[in-house]
Amino acid sequence: MPLRPLIGAHVPVAGGLLRGVEYADRVGAEVIQIFAANARRWGWQDPDPVQDVAFQAGTADRGVPVFVHASYLINVGSADPAIRRRSLAALTHAVDRAADLGARGVVVHTGSAVGAARNGRRGCLVSGPISTRLRDLLLPVLDRGGALGLRLLVEPTAGGGTSLASRVEHLGPYFDALDRHPALGVCLDTCHLWAAGHDLAADGGLAATLDALVEAVGPDRVGLVHANGSRDGLGSGRDRHESLAAGMLDTSAFRQLLANDALREVPVVVETATEGHRADIALLKGLRDGLAG
Ligand SMILES: [Zn+2]
Ligand SMILES: [Zn+2]
Repeated sequence: MPLRPLIGAHVPVAGGLLRGVEYADRVGAEVIQIFAANARRWGWQDPDPVQDVAFQAGTADRGVPVFVHASYLINVGSADPAIRRRSLAALTHAVDRAADLGARGVVVHTGSAVGAARNGRRGCLVSGPISTRLRDLLLPVLDRGGALGLRLLVEPTAGGGTSLASRVEHLGPYFDALDRHPALGVCLDTCHLWAAGHDLAADGGLAATLDALVEAVGPDRVGLVHANGSRDGLGSGRDRHESLAAGMLDTSAFRQLLANDALREVPVVVETATEGHRADIALLKGLRDGLAG
């Protein structure tokens, strides 16, 4: 077991999955996240069995864990039955591909209740008919993922609009709606948390956020962290990733992240612009390795 988190990136796989492994080598990634289908269009291509085998062998040889990020179009909170049907199909596909590829988990955004009443506040927490939507859509996916040894990692969004979960407290009702399913986990994105008003850069800010998370969902639910900087200020509600050394989120947030004992076995990937991946990974490794000893 690593004493500190593995560090890597969301890697591009256009041109074949093996490109992702080669990319990981180039940027120094110890863990990778991939899309198993087009992230911005419904549907997917048939897998290439040769690439699948080479990808599995390449990641296993390197000891690089794999996570699959499901399509951005999936919205498990949608009021539109057609969107929910497509979301279920896309999420099921992502889980099956993750199992094929030996991945540890599937990341999906917590979603929003487009078309729902706002209740006069930011966000639209899970209750009533939204709970029913979540249960109908996600419980079968969680059962399937659990049977395959995978976790479904729900990622709180930056907030704004009718987001179902942006602050970590919002995950309490979200988990309740899903009976706190054992295959249910969380993916924390530093840019999203910052946008939702969690001041990760303040002294003790990261620990306070994790305390609130544990209060909401209990311990040991975080399966992956997305380390991203932000172009916007604290509580902006905006989701604009920035490279780690730039932007408004101070790198003290990442130092606290890598020093946190509860997260020491939770891998960290950057989802920043690809041209900055090598530098972003090097920055995180420098912070992590500076803590060793
Ligand atoms: Zn995401
Ligand atoms: Zn993310």
